[in-house]
Amino acid sequence: VEWCRELPKIELHAHLNGSVRDSTLLELAKDLGEKGVIAFADVAHVIMKNGRSLPECFKLFDLYHLLTTDHQTVTRITKEVIEDFAAENVVYLELRTTPKKNEAKGMTKCSYMKAVIDGIRAVDTVDVDFVTSGTSNVNCSEATPLNCIGSPIKRKKIYVRLLLSIDRRETTAAALETVNLAMDLKNFGVVGIDLSGNPVIGEWQTFLPALKHAKELGLPITLHCGEVPNHKEIQAMLDICPQRIGHACFLVEEEWKRVKFLKIPVEICLTSNIRTGRFSSIYDHFFADLYKAKHQVALCTDDSGLFSTTLSNEFYLAASTFGLNKDEMFLLARSAIQSTFADDEVKHELTKIYDDAANRLI
Ligand code: 5GP
Repeated sequence: VEWCRELPKIELHAHLNGSVRDSTLLELAKDLGEKGVIAFADVAHVIMKNGRSLPECFKLFDLYHLLTTDHQTVTRITKEVIEDFAAENVVYLELRTTPKKNEAKGMTKCSYMKAVIDGIRAVDTVDVDFVTSGTSNVNCSEATPLNCIGSPIKRKKIYVRLLLSIDRRETTAAALETVNLAMDLKNFGVVGIDLSGNPVIGEWQTFLPALKHAKELGLPITLHCGEVPNHKEIQAMLDICPQRIGHACFLVEEEWKRVKFLKIPVEICLTSNIRTGRFSSIYDHFFADLYKAKHQVALCTDDSGLFSTTLSNEFYLAASTFGLNKDEMFLLARSAIQSTFADDEVKHELTKIYDDAANRLI
């Protein structure tokens, strides 16, 4: 496990609100409990429950959003989530979140994203590179200005990029608003669009105009694809050739053939898939098949808070289940560089990070 922690890792599928620490959720719930907004005891029980079905997870997200959706809290959770990933030696994090409108809190999708960006700026345990344009974009912390005074002590660094999620509950207009916002925030680390939310809700035709618009604007797309056996939708998703897909639990042979032919990288969330009962045994997971076929895959956490996991743990799980040795694990981690939505300069920097780590780790 320690070796998996040491390994530099790339996280491509992490939802902000699903990655919040339990301790923070409990603290926020206690606060709202004291204000009489919620019944703390009931909520605490739900937060601490282990093992949830997919529909239960979506109910829980509504509770999470009740606890986290004000500007100050969004900033706090973003900061904490990035620090937690950095502590696991995640060197590149593509964090996704759904921009939310909440009139009662004076929140627009844009002000929500500003709160997220403030959270990235507030990180102080590690240097953060998050602005995609410009030259000097490292957030040099005031609290520990080691880099600023030219100290030889090298601080940890994490690249953070953002994906804006369209929630399947949204209308076409709301989805288009998210795509346009992503475009406006390209200089603040936004690199693409995600489609997520409860897979049994919403029609593909509702999101299609926004996803097509994203394509026209040159924004890469990743889709939650095949979380339920809706083969008409899976086909339609593959028809637009997304740059990546996530989960892909219910794809059938013909659909896998297309994914392989189109060389679409797959984000694999082992713990999430097992905990939500998508596979009865981890040994039945399609990871082994894709890995053997040398198809591009990336191990990811999905919702590290909700599923009590870490990316190190996901690597350990893959290694111990599918019998990968250290060389194979290292190459697996490193190969995710190709699937990031980062620009070539960042990909080059990541390659250097792995080259440096190779001497130490294998
Ligand atoms: P947020 O976008 O609010 O930061 O993160 C939580 C949201 O991510 C959830 O409300 C849901 O829309 C989406 N999400 C998190 N985990 C999953 C998952 O496993 N499947 C799908 N389809 N959506 C998810």
